Amino acid sequence: MTLIRLTGVTKSYPPSTKGGDPVVAVDDVDLEIAAGTVCGIVGYSGAGKSTVLRLVNALESPTSGRVEIDGRDITGLRERDLRTLRGDIGMIFQQFNLFDSRTVAGNVAYPLEVAGTPRPEIKTRVAELLDFVGLGGKARNYPEQLSGGQRQRVGIARALATSPRILLADEATSALDPDTTQEVLALLKRVNTELGITILVITHEMEVVRAIADRVVVMEHGRIIESGEVFDVLSAP
Ligand code: ADP
Ligand code: ADP
Repeated sequence: MTLIRLTGVTKSYPPSTKGGDPVVAVDDVDLEIAAGTVCGIVGYSGAGKSTVLRLVNALESPTSGRVEIDGRDITGLRERDLRTLRGDIGMIFQQFNLFDSRTVAGNVAYPLEVAGTPRPEIKTRVAELLDFVGLGGKARNYPEQLSGGQRQRVGIARALATSPRILLADEATSALDPDTTQEVLALLKRVNTELGITILVITHEMEVVRAIADRVVVMEHGRIIESGEVFDVLSAP
């Protein structure tokens, strides 16, 4: 079953200077991601990878084309449906984007508080999520007391709080050293296999794709120049 589908998607931004050309960030992209798989998008800086992620979680609307989640066009959703969609999509970032003034538990609880989840339920869920990411003992710590790898685990726990079906990872291991990267990738693999969550990772590191992706898409200048099974694409001459 296709969970994420982009059909003929183009996203262009207005010219930065008067009389300049529009920037075509994503150029006529077709992409299908099957439920339960891990898809990697690789490409150099400026290739259009982040724009694809922002189109998938409806932070941007396509200039033309369709973006569908589970067969449903997500462009032009109303506020209420947008919130439902965002609860179905978790996101993690290169710089973790944690709230420094909140504890580890407070960070993970945040999306549940926004969703209006009752307090006792939040507490149970936060404890369960922290156990899952191996930070059961760190609930009352603050982000600055944690290592980079631990901070990204908090980011992952927070992204999973609302039980999304999709996790979007934007250069999620790029700020980590190689060993920590392997640990975080192993955790993401568990998110996929144990929880059945579909993961879309964008990265400039081929190692990341080799470690966890089923399929890979290579972007250049807003276009998909190659896609397929990781082994086939990465071993191509
Ligand atoms: P990547 O994630 O592969 O580095 P991006 O999707 O961030 O690529 O960017 C693709 C292109 O679109 C780049 O040329 C970038 O400068 C441009 N771009 C991205 N976001 C914006 C924006 N909000 N306004 C104008 N141009 C943008
Ligand atoms: P902060 O000071 O960071 O905002 P709070 O103490 O207000 O943190 O807690 C925020 C949320 O996290 C609350 O809903 C609470 O139930 C939950 N929480 C706090 N401590 C724990 C813990 N040790 N285990 C599980 N959940 C916790």
